Amino acid sequence: MKTIGLIGGMSWESSAGYYRLINQDMKQRLGGHRNARSVMVTVSFEEIKTLQHEARWDELGEHMKQAALQVQAAGADFVLLCTNTMHRVAPVLEGALDIPFLHIVDPTAKALQDAGVRRVGLLGTAFTMEQDFYRGRMQDRFGIEVVVPDIEGRALVHKVIYDELCHGIVRDASREAYKRIIDSMQAQGVEGVILGCTEIALLIAQKDVALPVFDTTALHAQAAVSRALA
Ligand code: GLU
Repeated sequence: MKTIGLIGGMSWESSAGYYRLINQDMKQRLGGHRNARSVMVTVSFEEIKTLQHEARWDELGEHMKQAALQVQAAGADFVLLCTNTMHRVAPVLEGALDIPFLHIVDPTAKALQDAGVRRVGLLGTAFTMEQDFYRGRMQDRFGIEVVVPDIEGRALVHKVIYDELCHGIVRDASREAYKRIIDSMQAQGVEGVILGCTEIALLIAQKDVALPVFDTTALHAQAAVSRALA
């Protein structure tokens, strides 16, 4: 079994989810007490969040690179960055690492392709919904068209992520607001919805939504287990 490397803390609420999902999946596949081999380096989110909102992506790239190199030095065979947003600087990590980097878009796109989804709604931080690094990879490499909420919807989704979900706060009113936003994307013809922020699964589950839901945390974690066993 290979050792899974994780860059966590963005936020730790979702890193805990990765840890649980990876170990549950490994145990389910192998049985007994066979959990995954892994190492995690956890950054402090306050500093990261501030730099994000000041658009200091070069410095963020440097932070992520240092964390990735720590994960590599700790013995990981490959690396996951446990946040969609910070994939904005994925090329910096890919350039610095000697071991493979498992990009979060790739298993998500594969699941969409397997489900026959060609036009998909995306929920995530404003950075993920509005910048090209995520939608561009989906569209250019996998031919999947990405639809995002309107400007008010994007602001609400973003605020709930940072002010509630990253603090572990789960509110029914926010779930209802997310469901309304998903409905409005459904009216634009999307065939599924990407939970493109690793905390959204705290709020929205498949049972809340008629459209097929693609949870990036779960898909990324499953891909890690498959790779660890390949
Ligand atoms: N975990 C979130 C994501 O998947 C947001 C936190 C962050 O900004 O990294 O995008």
